[in-house]
Amino acid sequence: MSSCIFCKIAAGEIPAQVVKKGDGMVAFRDLNPQAPTHVLVIPTTHLGSLNDAKDAAVLGKLMAFARDVALETGVASKGYRVVVNTNPDGGQTVFHLHLHVLGGRAMKWPPG
Ligand code: 5GP
Ligand code: ZN
Repeated sequence: MSSCIFCKIAAGEIPAQVVKKGDGMVAFRDLNPQAPTHVLVIPTTHLGSLNDAKDAAVLGKLMAFARDVALETGVASKGYRVVVNTNPDGGQTVFHLHLHVLGGRAMKWPPG
């Protein structure tokens, strides 16, 4: 989608700190990190939100990719959190499906 900032990152049209890419997915560091490690995992094909992701295989691939990002950024063994904010009440601000991988500190529960 031409106006979508994450589509532009996926296409390399605007810069991002890419940590992993391949198989129709890209992982890059969040511009405003909420933890020492804060990486976003996106499909390169535009999907507005989790509600629009009808293909369970795509969701499985994204989750496995997020797990691999956690392993490769060194947060997996101590622990990390994967978050998918969905629509306004879920706190979604960028309407291209993304998984947040947060680690490097202990997370609190419940989330806000
Ligand atoms: P949401 O609130 O939609 O779940 O998360 C959107 C995330 O995208 C936020 O954590 C925000 O900091 C991040 N973000 C927004 N614009 C950019 C950008 O241009 N580059 C990067 N790397 N992250 C962005
Ligand atoms: Zn997009």
